[in-house]
Amino acid sequence: GIENLSDLEKLAVLGRGNGGTVYKVRHKLTSCIFALKVLRFYHNTTNIRRQALREAEILKRVDSPYIVRCYAVFDREDDLCFAMEHMERGSLHDVLFVGKILPEDVISGLAWCVLHGLQYLHKMQIVHGDIKPSNLLINCKGDVKIADFGVSRIVVGKHEACDAYMGTCAYMSPERFDPERWDGDNDDGFAGDVWSLGVVVLECLVGHYPLIGVGEKPDWAALVCAICFGERLEMPENASPEFRSFVIRCLEKDWSKRGTVDELIDHPFVNRTCCGSHQPFLDLVLHR
Ligand code: ADP
Ligand code: MG
Repeated sequence: GIENLSDLEKLAVLGRGNGGTVYKVRHKLTSCIFALKVLRFYHNTTNIRRQALREAEILKRVDSPYIVRCYAVFDREDDLCFAMEHMERGSLHDVLFVGKILPEDVISGLAWCVLHGLQYLHKMQIVHGDIKPSNLLINCKGDVKIADFGVSRIVVGKHEACDAYMGTCAYMSPERFDPERWDGDNDDGFAGDVWSLGVVVLECLVGHYPLIGVGEKPDWAALVCAICFGERLEMPENASPEFRSFVIRCLEKDWSKRGTVDELIDHPFVNRTCCGSHQPFLDLVLHR
């Protein structure tokens, strides 16, 4: 195990986000490579610290081949650090940036992995809340894993206030913009993760963020409007019937009618490659 933070030597920056900085690090005693996410508390607000501790709490609990593994958490005065498995191929965002469009078989394998990760999380009563390309990581074997629990939460009971759990607007489901959500017949947020996966899957085949046109300026109002009221689902002409049906089940605006993880995990689109063999992903990433 990793006993001390000082045993880790920083080699490079793997990514920067709202939450903090992720470094590629080497464990000096074993020469093993890890990813170290560092969340700094510059303005030491209790809210930021509380959310960071929540991320740590979730990471310590989860143990699944479809979720990026966390080996150690260092809770210090000015920062919180997680030592995680290093995902050599980076995020789906990076892959799409280079490749733009992925073949359906690759997307199918990706959806298989993410759905298995979500099924695990939802059984643990965890809503991820921020499924998007930059939070789906790929290793050198071609495994796809869910990362970044920065806005995740553990559902304790119905009608729980979800105030601060804002993910990235573009991948958020319609119900998350609904002001009446907090009064009426509440959802738990699980359906929101399915919506986000639908946007990601469609984006992989369309080659750009799919809910607004390529040239359109994605200001906040236009985006919310497209998500909540947009009827146009830009489905690529070459999309197979299974692909279409899968995306339509994910992007059902009414969360209570949307496909659930348990339903979609058996969908023909997800099961076309034998048991989620994601070998095609590996080939694609390696041979580009
Ligand atoms: P944030 O909360 O800032 O979004 P993330 O956990 O999503 O933080 O990490 C930001 C970026 O850092 C990711 O999009 C990815 O590019 C890179 N990254 C994060 N964790 C790893 C990892 N375990 N292995 C490789 N790259 C990683
Ligand atoms: Mg992120």
